[in-house]
Amino acid sequence: MNVIPPRSSPASPGAPPSAAAPDAATPPSTSLPAAPAAPDGTTALLRRLWREEVRKHRGRIVSVLVLTVLMASLTGLYPLVIQRALDMFAAHDPRILYQVPALVVMITAAKALSQYAQTVAVQNLVLIVIRGLQGTMFAHLVHTDIARIEREAPAQLAARFTTDAVAIREAMIRATNSLGDVVTVAGLVVSMFYMDWELSLIAAVLYPIAAVPIQRLGKRVRRASGGMQERMGETSALLTESFAQARTVRVYRLEGSEERRVSHALDLLQHALMRIARGRARVDPLLEVLGGSAVAAVLGFAGWRAALGGATLGDFSGFVAALLLAARPLRALGSLNAALQEGLAGLVRIFAVLDEPADVVEAGDALALPAGNGHLCFEAASFRYPDGRVGLDGLSFEARPGLTVALVGPSGAGKSTALSLIPRLHDVSAGRIRLDGIDLRALRLADLRDAIAYVSQDTMLFDLSVAENIRIGRPAATDADIRAAARAAAAESFIDTLPDGFATRVGPGGQRLSGGQRQRVALARALLRDPRVLLLDEATSALDSESEALVQHALAHLRRGRTTIVVAHRLSTVRSADLVVVLADGQGVECGTHAELVEANGLYARMVRTQAFEL
Ligand code: ATP
Repeated sequence: MNVIPPRSSPASPGAPPSAAAPDAATPPSTSLPAAPAAPDGTTALLRRLWREEVRKHRGRIVSVLVLTVLMASLTGLYPLVIQRALDMFAAHDPRILYQVPALVVMITAAKALSQYAQTVAVQNLVLIVIRGLQGTMFAHLVHTDIARIEREAPAQLAARFTTDAVAIREAMIRATNSLGDVVTVAGLVVSMFYMDWELSLIAAVLYPIAAVPIQRLGKRVRRASGGMQERMGETSALLTESFAQARTVRVYRLEGSEERRVSHALDLLQHALMRIARGRARVDPLLEVLGGSAVAAVLGFAGWRAALGGATLGDFSGFVAALLLAARPLRALGSLNAALQEGLAGLVRIFAVLDEPADVVEAGDALALPAGNGHLCFEAASFRYPDGRVGLDGLSFEARPGLTVALVGPSGAGKSTALSLIPRLHDVSAGRIRLDGIDLRALRLADLRDAIAYVSQDTMLFDLSVAENIRIGRPAATDADIRAAARAAAAESFIDTLPDGFATRVGPGGQRLSGGQRQRVALARALLRDPRVLLLDEATSALDSESEALVQHALAHLRRGRTTIVVAHRLSTVRSADLVVVLADGQGVECGTHAELVEANGLYARMVRTQAFEL
């Protein structure tokens, strides 16, 4: 018997496709957090959700509760009206002409109104809770270690905000509505017992039998759903990568292999979705059979009793109406567990992110940066990446204020790693780095980073206006400051030719500007910051000679009067540096000026001879 479809089908459009049991053919995911500390017991998860998000919205919860109970109680009145109408009908009571229609109109109107208000109130509560979760998760991720962010593809991280949030939203809406279902069923049960307690007992015995298999199915769906959300993340990561590499794909004619790669991921996703669909599909027929048996038993018993003479037509019809009305909310309650488990799988993944402690944190008694000019000392600084690879192995050098230190060495020697330790994107695993006499780890993070500007070789800008991109260097800067910085970075003239001048938006990543233009905007940003320490990751890609000259000129201007650490790829940069530190395998193997190192005839001299540097 399929009387009325459930109010909120778990497979409603827009809902996240749900997953299946882990697929044997699926490679184990590498993106799962190493040790999610989130509790995964249903009660523990719900309690935490309540404590951290839901309970902040008491007013909204109360209005949801009141409206839900109101709406459900109105449904409980329907069978009573039917009973009354049929009894009047049987007794040829003339009041049936006005009393019953008026009652029906009143009840339906009240129910329609309360239903509208309840739906809006539920969505309002659920969406604000999800918004809170997303906000907390982003606030955590935007502050957490760079190593954590780099562990997952950006699209995979983004999926936690989209697919996981949708799963949680669906589950919460189902859970809240189920409250209405409980009240509806309770109201109908009261009506049923009021009309015919014997028939009610028969129905009451049959329904709870369904609970056991439903619970078991729910567990399976939860496991499968977590896996599916992983798969969704992986697929979007793959798609993003493929689109981002669109040029390479065409030039190297990778269309076929990309199609195969994506098609494999889509297959895995499809299988994951199919498996969860199968799990879900089992719930409804199970409830259908049980519902059908209940109705059959009731009808049989009622027929047998009618043969003996007894209850009125009104009693019987009212009772069957109540039974049929109860079927929908009962089935919704039956399939609630599965939907809830899908949401819980999303919640586990979100809490797992929130529970990851950051390694790079500010000390409780962090010091303000003392006055100074950017005196930087690496003292046997070592760093290992989370996968165990050595990034830096006991590097020592001193960068005195106002001077430029060039880090050189073969590819993979640890130059970028050394640079990333200065703003504490990572913390040293041994040794220490001091800025103006204080260990970086003892400084206030904000002070440290305010004292540093960074210009990388592959400059990416934010999709904001040119002026806003420059203002990042010093948020309090005036428009005149920004123009002055742009002028000093040899960027003013090209910015003025843009359609909206400084107000022109640069497009995602800054793609509406050329590489050289992006770099000059980044230089203007660094100039505006007026940092104590300037970190430069020198571009290897050759700019056209005109913009190259402009960038070099701007750089020379920028380096004046501050400590500069530059990962150098150009011989001209290395020659003009006050100190050259030669790195190999994470260690500092030579140190001196260009002339001294050429004289020493070691690795550096060899690099110069073999033209390892750009001219
Ligand atoms: P290049 O001149 O090619 O940019 P580099 O001297 O800057 O090289 P680094 O990027 O500092 O070298 O890398 C030093 C070592 O650390 C390399 O062996 C590299 O493989 C490893 N490494 C770099 N980044 C990571 C990372 N995120 N995870 C694990 N290992 C890394």
